[in-house]
Amino acid sequence: MKPIKMVDLQTQYLKIKTEIDSAIQDVIDTTAFINGPAINALKNILKKYLNVKHVIPCANGTDALQLALMSLDLKPGDEVITPTFTFISTVEVVALLGLKPVFVDVDPDTFNINVDDIKNAITDKTKAIIPVHLFGQCADMEVIMNIARENNIYVIEDNAQAIGADFNFADGNTMKAGTIGDIGCTSFFPSKNLGCYGDGGAIFTNSDELADKLSYIANHGMKIKYHHEYIGVNSRLDTLQAAILKVKLQYLDDYIAARQKAADYYDKAFTIEPKLKIPQRFAKSSHVFHQYTLQAIDFSRDELIDFLKEKQIPAMIYYPVPIHLQKAYQHYVKAGENYPISEHLSKVVFSLPMHTELDEEQLEYITNSVLEFLNK
Ligand SMILES: *Cc1c(COP(=O)(O)O)cnc(C)c1O
Repeated sequence: MKPIKMVDLQTQYLKIKTEIDSAIQDVIDTTAFINGPAINALKNILKKYLNVKHVIPCANGTDALQLALMSLDLKPGDEVITPTFTFISTVEVVALLGLKPVFVDVDPDTFNINVDDIKNAITDKTKAIIPVHLFGQCADMEVIMNIARENNIYVIEDNAQAIGADFNFADGNTMKAGTIGDIGCTSFFPSKNLGCYGDGGAIFTNSDELADKLSYIANHGMKIKYHHEYIGVNSRLDTLQAAILKVKLQYLDDYIAARQKAADYYDKAFTIEPKLKIPQRFAKSSHVFHQYTLQAIDFSRDELIDFLKEKQIPAMIYYPVPIHLQKAYQHYVKAGENYPISEHLSKVVFSLPMHTELDEEQLEYITNSVLEFLNK
């Protein structure tokens, strides 16, 4: 059996090595390292894949979120609603810009932001909501967009984990994750569903005005060279990474299918096990399984993780501490605010290996090992 990894980027690379190597060599041959032709080419194929009007590549997913907030003319003290059960970037950028993160609890089944709690968190200072499509399926974007429109609030989707997922609206319309809000942000970090070979990110929008502004802000606020209209940052995607992503985007749907197949295998093995809660599939969204995350019911997940480790099976905890309990973010939490679901999840969740290269032999070994522990 091949060694089991949380994410197996090497096997994935070897299958497309010829194409990737030649794409990289092309960039080196032309030495167009910054803003080379692969950048525009990637923009165009991503626009087509996502059916979105504008794609603005940038240096990483965290920058994408920061740029998105910078484009909205917010003032210090303005409030931005985020889930507390997420990766730190979602909240970090809000704090960095002097805005005030307002935390909201999540749904115990989908791990995504609780839409009822969003309504309660809105004040006259609320300017934006950042729903996170955690682990690969969309938050309830239909309800979130309705709340946002009623209250004149921007929506920035943190789509670092769900690129390629489809959201289905009640009227039968389908849109890709990251193209529904005013702005969508993604990460091309190597382990993400569409990962490059270093850091990378992108921003999506259907607004011409925001797209213009975002592209300037990402490049020192320059509209015309050496004329600075906005205070910007230096956040570009390398041409090398764009060339790699151009190759990998062709395989994204196959990669998603491979992840879904692995998730189906896990579901089937675990669904009858009363000590495990399998990840719920949200009816309004497809699930692209960035992570396969289970909940431990009345047993120590840490003991299970140790047991699996002895069997050379990695497992991870995403995320062990919700943001409102993180030391650096304590002062944003008002006395009396509670986030019981996020706190509970942080104690019971664990994620099994999930990537595009898992084979049946590995999946059988993983699932048997988990069940062996539970039935000891
Ligand atoms: C990975 C990730 C990010 C940040 O992306 P980077 O490219 O690592 O900066 C933001 N939000 C979520 C939910 C993520 O998983």
